[in-house]
Amino acid sequence: MRIIQASYIMPLNTAPIKDGYLYIEDDGTVIHVNDITPITNQFEVEVYEGIICPGFVNTHCHLELSHMKGLVPKGYGLPKFVSQIPQLRKQSNLDPLKSLKEADRNMNESGIVAVGDISNTTESLSVKKNSAIRYHSFVEQFGLNKNNADHLLSEGLTIVEEYRSSNLSASLVPHAPYSLSPQLLKGIYSYSNGQLLTIHHQETASEKELFLDSKGDLAELFLSKGLDISSQLEGGKNSAQYALLPYLPKEQKLLLVHNTFSESADIEEIETHFSDAYWCTCPKANWYIEQRLPNYNLWREKNLKITIGTDSLASNDSLCVLEEIKMIQKNYSHIATNELLIWACKNGAEFFNYDELGSFKAGCKPGVVLIEHVDGLQLTENSKVTVLA
Ligand SMILES: [Zn+2]
Repeated sequence: MRIIQASYIMPLNTAPIKDGYLYIEDDGTVIHVNDITPITNQFEVEVYEGIICPGFVNTHCHLELSHMKGLVPKGYGLPKFVSQIPQLRKQSNLDPLKSLKEADRNMNESGIVAVGDISNTTESLSVKKNSAIRYHSFVEQFGLNKNNADHLLSEGLTIVEEYRSSNLSASLVPHAPYSLSPQLLKGIYSYSNGQLLTIHHQETASEKELFLDSKGDLAELFLSKGLDISSQLEGGKNSAQYALLPYLPKEQKLLLVHNTFSESADIEEIETHFSDAYWCTCPKANWYIEQRLPNYNLWREKNLKITIGTDSLASNDSLCVLEEIKMIQKNYSHIATNELLIWACKNGAEFFNYDELGSFKAGCKPGVVLIEHVDGLQLTENSKVTVLA
């Protein structure tokens, strides 16, 4: 058994405990948390300055893009970013598998215990199989040509099967509302009953323009590639009306990623239709690509279930959940660290149905993370993670 004491213990299923004690088994299983000085002298108490919390759940990542670190200039805007990715992905002179392994190791060392990873291929399969991190692979498909939908669907299902036959959980998901034909959307959703679903959502202002009147940078990008999708979009619909609401039942579990440009009405429409929607934010990637952050005051006002993602090394300089929440608190200093950790640990674990992760509930093995260099309860520029269990 280990007894860990810190300035603050944040169990996340209960309120923070000042000068609290966390009792765990040697294998990391939580025994209990309290603020009573232990009377035993059989065990030495490990004393730390800082905040102790469970391991982080990174709900949005693209391990496959790990070899693209630094290749995309900052402030590119999303339309240019998505159009450059396929080309740049091949141009990098870093070894993709080596970069993938390093990214997995760095995430583990930064206190991340579970990852929802967007996968277009099986490139990351061997790394995931041998990792200390628990992965769910979101096998992502896109394609606007309706004649290609059947082919893309069966290709995606084959990849899902490959992950599953290696005992890795996986589900088939669409990329974004603007990048799939209705036929492909319908095909993917016919397999999503009881499965975890995610979609990139309102990451750029031009997604709204595209749906509203087929204008803006995304619309121009499609036209430059010879794709006139205005007839397909049926005019006047928004992202959710085109890609989600007509197809999915109320109880479908859904993780909407980015939502940087979501306004009150967009959020309300989705929250009214779905009973189990989660809202993932990747602040550092949003800043990298669009130089903009979501309106977290609005998200909190609407009581959204918020989770944290790092996105990929193509749009971020690290895959570290603590760096993401530091970025949020730097810009929204009134959001308490305990609340940010609920987003970063508990809500993500809940989305993936990982009951044993996300909080210091007795009997669980959620990982134990120390955040040092804090200012009382606030994170600082220098806050950093040490993994204790
Ligand atoms: Zn992404």
